[in-house]
Amino acid sequence: MAQSAQATEPAVRVVFGAGIRATIAMETGRLGASKALVLATPQQCDAALEIAELLGPTAVGVFCKAAMHTPVDVTNAAMEHISEVGADCLIAIGGGSTTGLGKAIAYRNDLPQITIPTTYAGSEATPILGQTEDGIKTTLIDPRVLPEVILYDAELVRTLPVAMTVTSALNAMAHAAEALYATDRTAQTTELAITGLRAFADGLPAVLSNPNDLDAREATQRGAWACGTVLGQVGMALHHKLCHTLGGSFNLPHAETHAIVLPHAIAYNARAAATELQPICDLLGGENAGASLYEFAKRMNAPTSLRALGLSEGDLDHAADLATTKPYPNPQPVTRDDIRALLQAAWAGDTPIT
Ligand code: NAD
Repeated sequence: MAQSAQATEPAVRVVFGAGIRATIAMETGRLGASKALVLATPQQCDAALEIAELLGPTAVGVFCKAAMHTPVDVTNAAMEHISEVGADCLIAIGGGSTTGLGKAIAYRNDLPQITIPTTYAGSEATPILGQTEDGIKTTLIDPRVLPEVILYDAELVRTLPVAMTVTSALNAMAHAAEALYATDRTAQTTELAITGLRAFADGLPAVLSNPNDLDAREATQRGAWACGTVLGQVGMALHHKLCHTLGGSFNLPHAETHAIVLPHAIAYNARAAATELQPICDLLGGENAGASLYEFAKRMNAPTSLRALGLSEGDLDHAADLATTKPYPNPQPVTRDDIRALLQAAWAGDTPIT
């Protein structure tokens, strides 16, 4: 997102705690709701059924069809389901895809939402909604899409597979990294971004050494909240533009693409914004923020090449063309040749060009 959403955010109730999902009936009651529809992906339907069980008669349905990039036809099917069951509240349990479905419904009917995130993507903390229709992804900002309540339950993120834990964490760190040089940043947004980055710099190695460590999981969830919140408060730049291009036009997976591109985009912008990016070097070690992130990602066993995601080398020219059309404001001037070189390095898994 190149646009900032700072002034539009109403207050959100945010609660952290292992097992906090057990309070779901009380949270639903606090909203004055009595007919909750629970949302999830097909893969997380069991988690949705558990929430429905906790709700008892307050649950009027479970809709397990959330999908990546918030397809409008899925949202329309959910809207029909809501009319049938007369839901007065949404409970989204899952990653950014499920959160996106809840936001898309709330955008249409303003139903209150309780979001229970199970990845680190951070969508629950932003008023941003991306939707896909006929293969085209569009993004909007609207305060109606922000959940009323976010419940961060460390027990739920514990089931996130280790590989996705790493890529999702780097996805979150990407929001904070770009916030450091955002044109509309403030002292407060920079502090929040550093808080988020620190939570992952310290917490991710701890999670990887014991994925069942609930304290470490909660520390990373706090990082996800900070990174997601700052994403909603300032405009993003080259890194997010590249990932939107690669995800939207080449169908690359969201978190993995962020994880691979981040060190390259940050190395590119460190040419113009080394001072702003210094907190990353301070947290991770090293002299160049992009190289620091690359070494950190490798230590965490993150994927490093777009080739491994199935992108063909022949697509790089087109990707460079798309990514340099209508670029977001960016500290380092964006040229087509430089972006083509960046993409080549990210495709091959090379160290970032500094
Ligand atoms: P996701 O929600 O697509 O989840 C990926 C897969 O992992 C799904 O099958 C999901 O069911 C499963 N999963 C999630 N949590 C799990 C857990 N704890 N245990 C086991 N399986 C689990 O992935 P994501 O990266 O969280 O979200 C990506 C989507 O979110 C993209 O569409 C992206 O555009 C969007 N997003 C939006 C914003 C925003 O502010 N609007 C911000 C970040 C991401």
